Order: sequence, then structure tokens, then C-alpha cells
Amino acid sequence: MSIAIRDAIIVTQNPGREIIEGDVLVENGIIARVGEVKESADQEISADGDILIPGLINTHTHVSMALLKGVADDMSFDRFLQAVFEIDSRRDAGDISAGAKLGLLEMIMGGTTTFVDLYYSEDIIAKEVEESGLRGLLCWAVLDEEFTTQSGRPLDNCRRFHRDHAQSGRVIPGIGLQGVYVCSRETFLESRRYAEDNGLLLHFHLSETRKEVYEHKRKTGRRPAEWLEEMGFLSPRCLAAHAAWLTVNEIRALARNQVSISTCPVSNMKLATGGVAPIPEMREEGVVTSIGTDGSTTNNSLDMLGEMKALALLQKSNRWRPELLKAGEVLDMATVEAARAIGMGDQLGSIEVGKRADLVILDGSSPSMVPTTASNVVSNIVYSCSRADVKTTICDGRILMLDRDVLTIDPVETITGAREAARELIG
Ligand SMILES: [Zn+2]
Repeated sequence: MSIAIRDAIIVTQNPGREIIEGDVLVENGIIARVGEVKESADQEISADGDILIPGLINTHTHVSMALLKGVADDMSFDRFLQAVFEIDSRRDAGDISAGAKLGLLEMIMGGTTTFVDLYYSEDIIAKEVEESGLRGLLCWAVLDEEFTTQSGRPLDNCRRFHRDHAQSGRVIPGIGLQGVYVCSRETFLESRRYAEDNGLLLHFHLSETRKEVYEHKRKTGRRPAEWLEEMGFLSPRCLAAHAAWLTVNEIRALARNQVSISTCPVSNMKLATGGVAPIPEMREEGVVTSIGTDGSTTNNSLDMLGEMKALALLQKSNRWRPELLKAGEVLDMATVEAARAIGMGDQLGSIEVGKRADLVILDGSSPSMVPTTASNVVSNIVYSCSRADVKTTICDGRILMLDRDVLTIDPVETITGAREAARELIG
């Protein structure tokens, strides 16, 4: 199966960050040529006047919570946690799957092709991911037994999930540690050993709120990142979500151990946790930085284009420095750097020969994107583009949406199913 995309402004995100006007040829899921494609392909897509970018990578979410948007807004963090926990504890397989499907549809329509999920019941979510055609790094939630509602030991459940899905293409199993407040040293270290033995991603929440940091320090004498380094947990397999309340020493610990981070600006702002992640310092020290939307109870969307703009504005505004975190850096964080953050830098994140064909076409004739030229295209993607401008989404050489027609998931059935499940669950 071959696909030719013709006459696009191609934002390659290759090492030279070249912008090329031309064509891309995809053969059997792999990018075979970038520039001029003379021969015809099985599927011809005209992108005249449009913009072709690498598929966006959302490095932190809880996709199945798409069903819970709007249930716990505008309240204190403690009340928020209580409200979400109460609903979450009543969820069954049917509504986890309906929520996942809804979130996957939202991501396909928003130009996301790969996402990192942290949740229990990833086996239910995996089925929907396979069908949708998106690539999901599904990290099973691991925490100490005394804090969980999972039946059985969470790490054993995670192991079982990994064994059952180790050979799947779309679903990449990982370990999702909930955070230092519910995971003991033993849980962290046992997870690390399992990740090392099996080559898995270690995804975890880190220093999202000040309270979490200070309570941990009171309990252990160490701030979370220091504590994790001291026990020997940190490694290049680690992807830390939030990473908002960090000292310079902690940032250096992350850099030393080649830990990547996923910053979640909208979630942090909405919950008013007060911590603005020190992204400039992390980048300065060489930490690989990427972007996550977090779940739909805290965002309340899975919109990576919106998240990129929010991130840039927050960082600039917070430091009174408009030149900080330029559009190109933000786009890197959602593409090439995100690919590195999940250990797939050699396969994803840019439009280069030999990489997996994760491609998104943006509507160059949308009012929000006119005028677009090679010189302003990156700025337009970050500051002007909305997800309504996403026309076509391709993951691994499979067309998931073509000219705004979603092909892998039935949108009407998904919406109806989500409405019914939400009515039963929330009322
Ligand atoms: Zn989260």
C-alpha cells in the first residue's frame, strides 16, 4: 500500500528543520521519499496550499476520562480529587471503553497520532486503541496495594497486561506509577527492575503540586526527585508528568539521569496549582521536554494544538519575556522531542525517509491559517492553528481521517455510546 501526498508545505522537523514545498511518498507504513514524487501511488492525496506536519505526540493523558469532562470544574484541588475519585470508583468496563473511544476520536480529529496514557484497565482501552489506528503507549497504573481499588496487586496486573500485549503494533505497554504519595520505595524499584528487564517506559506523576512536594519532604527528608534519584530509580526509561515544583538541583538530577518530562500547562493553570514548570531551565540543562494535555477532568480537552499555544503563552507571560520558548521549540516539544521522550526518536517525530508515516495535513485555506508561507508556517501552527483546521490524520501509514472524514471509528456511534454511558455514570 502506497500513499502520495502532493504539493504541501512540508514542515519536516528534520535535523535542519527544513520547510520543503513538495510531495511525500509513503510505502508500507514508512516514509519512502520527501521532496518530489513522480510515480503514482495507490492513494493520491492533494495537499495543494495545505501544510503537512509530523503527527503530534501527547505525552501525558488519561484518555478514558474523556467521558468525565465538566464534572469537577472551578473547585479546590482537594474537592476536585474527591469528586473525580467518587465517580471513577463507580466506573465499569462499558463506560471506560466508551470514554476511551470518545477520547481517541477527539485525538484523531485533533492531529494527534501517538499518546501516552496512565490508567488502570488499560486492557479495555487497548482494544479501542487497536481499532482506532492510533498508537498508544498504555501505562498501567501502579501503586501500593493499600491505596488501590484494583483487584489484585497493581504491578502484577501491569505485568499481565504487558505479557498479553507485548506483540501488538499499535499498543505499546508501559508502567504508570501514580506518584510518590501512593508508591513506596519498593514499588518504585520493583517497577524499575521490570521495566529494565522488558524494555518498557516508566511513566509517573512528579511534583505536580506544592503540597505533594512538602508532604514528601516532611515524610522522607527529601524532595521527590531527590528521593527518586537517591534510591536509584531515575533512568532514561523515565518520563515524568507535570514536573512543576522542581529546584535547580532536582532539574540537574533529571538531566544527569536522562529523565524526560511531559509538561501539562492547561491542567496546571486550571487547577491553579501555582507551579509553572521551569521549562527554560530544564531545556538549558538538557532535559528532554514534551507536552501532555493530562486527562479531560483537568483540561478539559485532548487538544495538542491548543496545548502548544497555552504552553508558549504561559512561559512567556510568567517570565515577562516574549522571546522565551519560541514557536519552533514548542513544535519540537510536540514532535521530535516527544518522540525522544518516549524512546522512539529513531522512528517518530519528523518527516524523514525511513521513519514511520505519522502525518497530519492542516488546512492552509482556513481563515486562521492565511497567509501561510515557509517563513511563518511554524508560528502559524503554534499561534494560529486550531484543531478545526486538521484535515487528514495518518498513523503508521494508515489513513485514520481523510478530508475530515474519520475512517476507523464511527463518529456517530461513538458519540451516541459516550452520551449513554455518561448519562448512566454521571446522570
Ligand atoms: Zn495525570
